[in-house]
Amino acid sequence: MTWNSIIGQRRISAMLRRCISNGRLPQALLLAGSEGAGAAALALAFARTMVCESPRADVDGPAPCETCRSCRQSASLQHSDIRIVVAYPAGKADSDDDLKTEVIEEIRSAVVAMAEDPYREIRLTGATQIRIGQIRELKRSLSLSSSQGGRRVVIILRADEMTTEASNAFLKTLEEPHADVTVILVTSRPERILPTISSRCQELVIPPIDDVDIADALVRRGLCDETEARLTASFAQGSFTRAVALLSDDMKTQREDIVDLLRTSLKGRDFRPRLISLVADIAEGRDKVRIETMLGLLALWLRDAHMIAAVGPNAAIVNTDQRDALIKFADAFGAADFPSALTVIERSVREVYRNVHPQITLLTMCMTLRRLLYGARSAQGASA
Ligand SMILES: [Zn+2]
Repeated sequence: MTWNSIIGQRRISAMLRRCISNGRLPQALLLAGSEGAGAAALALAFARTMVCESPRADVDGPAPCETCRSCRQSASLQHSDIRIVVAYPAGKADSDDDLKTEVIEEIRSAVVAMAEDPYREIRLTGATQIRIGQIRELKRSLSLSSSQGGRRVVIILRADEMTTEASNAFLKTLEEPHADVTVILVTSRPERILPTISSRCQELVIPPIDDVDIADALVRRGLCDETEARLTASFAQGSFTRAVALLSDDMKTQREDIVDLLRTSLKGRDFRPRLISLVADIAEGRDKVRIETMLGLLALWLRDAHMIAAVGPNAAIVNTDQRDALIKFADAFGAADFPSALTVIERSVREVYRNVHPQITLLTMCMTLRRLLYGARSAQGASA
């Protein structure tokens, strides 16, 4: 998690790294960029380089050495001199001491996620405000000296979420700067930052990421192939997180389509015409890889229904957003022969690849699934 994990943004990266090599470290920085453009990732790379004991000289400028004690701690975002402030969930919690166990647990895993991927910004459930208690606590910790004798950095994520009271308290901190502290405000809504605060910060506008850099990153991270990466990037409006979300949206659409196909296969007497037209849509609009993905999604969905039928409504499932639909499905078909149904799907994947006409494969699969799923129901005495 450092400069080489920054997606695009070469000009801004170079500018920040020059601050370090020139020894002109800002006291307060405002990184204003739209969601997913990488402002938080830049803040982290900058902070990690500043606290490193002996930064390495890269061709593009200084970078964390990754071997000193500071680097080892900052790599996992466990450095006591890098403080990250984020909104806490609504409730009476005003400082770290009042947090509920589950919130502490959520923070812990959010920090791990962001340490792994700086584009997964820490965002707690139901949290919309940075409150005055948090800023007071921050001020207290800044009044102590650095634990490791080096630079200290405060990163305020989504700084626009500071309440008015918090903003005013924070303004005082800016008015009495500590020589060894750099404060970085990150926001996608700079217009919501108190002007008295932003006027005391050096403001850097983080532009949207270039499409080609987004596509590159998607491929490099193994999230999709080049074609899909290019397509996705062109819809992402310069936001890497939006690009990633688009990829999963696509998966969701595919899942919706394949579950629709399954449901159609299970409809009453007149299901055939609609089934045939759905199968044609799927087979004509997609290549074999996509069809395999869809069948994989169908298998996951049935596996989840099976889990719920076996364990109960709270079973650990993959399609958590579909729990209600899966519970209904499990109610109706819970006694079905799921293992055989899954085998049928696996066989269909092989047939799709063996150059059998995908339309025939899919139709055969649907008819077999219909028989298997209703077989159990008629055995229970229910009618199709
Ligand atoms: Zn280091």
